Amino acid sequence: MYWGMDSLKRTESSDVLFSVKMRSSSGGRHVSGAERFSDESGVCGVVSGLATRALSHERGTPDMVNIRVESVPRGEVVHIPALKVRTERADTPQAGIDAAARLLLKAGVADPGRALEILRCAGQMRGAMILDARTLERLEPDFSRGVRVTNMDSSEAHPGGVSSVKNHFSEALVLASKTASAPGIIAEFCVSDDPGYVTGYVASRDLGYVRIEKLKEYGDSRGGRIFFYDGPKAELDAAIRYLEQKCVVVDGVPPYPDSHVMKTADENAVAELDMLRRSGLYRECAVSESCAGPRGVFDGRECLVLCSNDYLDLARDSRVVSAAEKAAGVWGAGTGGARLTTGTQVPHVELERRLAALKGKDSAVLFNSGYTANAGVIQAYCGREDAVFSDELNHASIIDGCRLSRASVAVYRHCRMDDLERLLAQSSARRKLVVTDSVFSMDGDMAPLPEIMRLARRYGAAVMIDEAHATGVVGAGGRGVCENFGLEGDEAPEFVMGTLSKALGSAGGFVCCSAVLADLVRNRARTFIFSTSLPASAAAAADAALDVMMSEPWRVSRVRENAEYLASALESRGVVCGGRCAAIIPVPAGGEEAAVLAARRLASDGILVSAIRYPSVALGAARLRCTVMCSHTHEELDFAAEKIAGYLVGGG
Ligand code: PMP
Repeated sequence: MYWGMDSLKRTESSDVLFSVKMRSSSGGRHVSGAERFSDESGVCGVVSGLATRALSHERGTPDMVNIRVESVPRGEVVHIPALKVRTERADTPQAGIDAAARLLLKAGVADPGRALEILRCAGQMRGAMILDARTLERLEPDFSRGVRVTNMDSSEAHPGGVSSVKNHFSEALVLASKTASAPGIIAEFCVSDDPGYVTGYVASRDLGYVRIEKLKEYGDSRGGRIFFYDGPKAELDAAIRYLEQKCVVVDGVPPYPDSHVMKTADENAVAELDMLRRSGLYRECAVSESCAGPRGVFDGRECLVLCSNDYLDLARDSRVVSAAEKAAGVWGAGTGGARLTTGTQVPHVELERRLAALKGKDSAVLFNSGYTANAGVIQAYCGREDAVFSDELNHASIIDGCRLSRASVAVYRHCRMDDLERLLAQSSARRKLVVTDSVFSMDGDMAPLPEIMRLARRYGAAVMIDEAHATGVVGAGGRGVCENFGLEGDEAPEFVMGTLSKALGSAGGFVCCSAVLADLVRNRARTFIFSTSLPASAAAAADAALDVMMSEPWRVSRVRENAEYLASALESRGVVCGGRCAAIIPVPAGGEEAAVLAARRLASDGILVSAIRYPSVALGAARLRCTVMCSHTHEELDFAAEKIAGYLVGGG
């Protein structure tokens, strides 16, 4: 629902309006800001919408939200029309910059190329810089603050105007329309600092609002705004006062750039896929024509597989495969229903018992995947009144579980216990849950679980660990990080989640916990309740895999030895790499392009490795993610290290 101008339009009776401004920050750093005008009856709704927006920001919950409500005489508010909108296609940042320069020249800017360079060199500013349109001299009084356009709103009540959701486009159009109407401002250039938003614009009264599709690479968090001023210096103050203080309502703001055009579903998909391709983020499935294992045939090419999570090489093990076959014969190919209807068969219950014993808990609950286990458990335990404390590098399924729970989410810096403690100390939530990968999927490092447990106990929080990459790999018996650190009983996390799909060579996920927590999970977890259960064959396969893991402990130690071997082989060839505590060896590859190129070259040498880029990891942290299996030979790992070093160190 939209509260602000909608009610403003209905009741023109009162002489005053209210300006509501929200600013939020975390650790002193700006997170989000927004503002609306409203008449008196709509103020509470606007405040609540803006608070929701501040608190549900994708970068996490801010630690400070400031909402200010001020009255404004209605007579001081002016209405102006929105600039006309059009879009210039640009396939590369350079094409976008060229288009912007052409438009700025047309608008009367003397040397647009140099102006854009000035912006690039200025570093990150929250406000806009003002440049003299003829001399490009910087004119704003405070270079670090810049000029901040405020006191504006759109008069439209379209969904894009809903206070609790940001609409990049309509909010930018409101700002650009106000700016273009300021005295002496002849043009504006803007590129967002949001790394996921590459479209920018040039705006002026004559050109209108010209969206430029691509002004930077996807993942680039550099942005900025320039106002070009062409008027007497003595009147610059008046222009700045107008931008910062004049109350302006913009009429006729469309919700989306092409909202007048009706599109089919396929046309919408084509546009979005096009955007992904141009951002270098389009993905396709490589088709395997071979059984799981350390070597395989992908897209017709034989290769050494250095990116499988089948760490103990059990997916193809004859004992595991025949357990699956046998179970399918006895129990059927499918279960015919969810766990709470026909979907709990004897193999499900038996496997739960074994998993609970493996992790030293009373109970376990099986899910269809590790993904749905994470999503379901977090949502089962946490609700709106609660807070989840989540490591910034946690797996996507944890992030989605946090979203599904509607709890407030405090994201702490990777493995930084001071940050976790700061956030725990501030929270007065009903329930607190600290969630972390135990071995991080992209970095291969281990969470400092003993410290996390100490903090959680001090601040009354429960703990959940994701053992997807630890089960079968970490701890002498492959039982995971609790075994590794010797944490038992009260010292162990309340929820130990894992997956059957990696070291156990099957499919499915699980959580181990106390009997009463398991009961809660079965009664609350939506991904458990509303989805048909795993086939018995998958449960039986995982059960057989547990037998093999326990009777052949060499597999667990060999996978870690292989990780150590590959890491040393890389380092002896001058390649710095991370990981080592489990089967994941991340190899920093420099830029995103370098990572993709190296992976492509390795594929042509017959080595399958994943190039991991933004948004899976931060921009600039692109890497090759190597994973080893217990069955890789030293010759294979030496061969891979030689080739990787050749491409990353030798530049070959
Ligand atoms: N957690 C982590 C850390 C993972 O890496 C993965 C799989 N990539 C999952 C959960 C999800 O497990 P599954 O593949 O069984 O859905």
